[in-house]
Amino acid sequence: MPSDYRLRPRDDGAGIRFQCMKCGTCCSERSLIVTLTGHDIVRLSKGLGLTARQLLRALDFYLLSDDESPPEGLRRFPAVRTDRGMVYIALKKSNDGRCVFLDNDLCMIHPIRPGACAAFPFVFTRDGTNIRWGLSAMRDICPGIGEGNEVSEAELLQLAGPVLEELDEYHKFAEAWNRQWSGEGVIDLIAAMLQDSRFR
Ligand code: SF4
Ligand code: SF4
Repeated sequence: MPSDYRLRPRDDGAGIRFQCMKCGTCCSERSLIVTLTGHDIVRLSKGLGLTARQLLRALDFYLLSDDESPPEGLRRFPAVRTDRGMVYIALKKSNDGRCVFLDNDLCMIHPIRPGACAAFPFVFTRDGTNIRWGLSAMRDICPGIGEGNEVSEAELLQLAGPVLEELDEYHKFAEAWNRQWSGEGVIDLIAAMLQDSRFR
């Protein structure tokens, strides 16, 4: 990431304190959708040794109709075309709304957890040479906000870098995939991500 990127608060002001209390609330919240990028999917596949077909068991596909605007959590992610329609790819939830990778309030895939999980409760967007940060729309569920030390600009930039770079690459993939799409389904889509050199 170029060093001349500047950090600007999006809507929450500067000087926020945060310390994760490892309570697992964000992983248990039914309405918090963990949207995935191509990098997230490749990390899951490699880390868990899963093929595209096996990986489907850990994924949910959120379908939006053409005239529906995506909810807040999905807006920064591109939708990808499949034979089911335009979908957002997310981590699967159990029937009780908890992430399938949550066990006794601990993440079973912590080293390879998705970028959105690593960044929560922060969200980042790029605006020219500014990186804007803010708090998730689901901020109210997180007891870690207001705890611990003030999060420094350097820490936020370190968190934002990989999240934004991986999102940029996923946007490029989605644009190419949607343009060239010729009837493929979700398995083909996941297989194409696993083959794509930009996600290595
Ligand atoms: S809800 Fe907040 S404090 Fe609890 S695990 Fe998630 S990020 Fe950490
Ligand atoms: S992958 Fe891990 S950190 Fe992310 S929602 Fe699931 S249990 Fe929580």
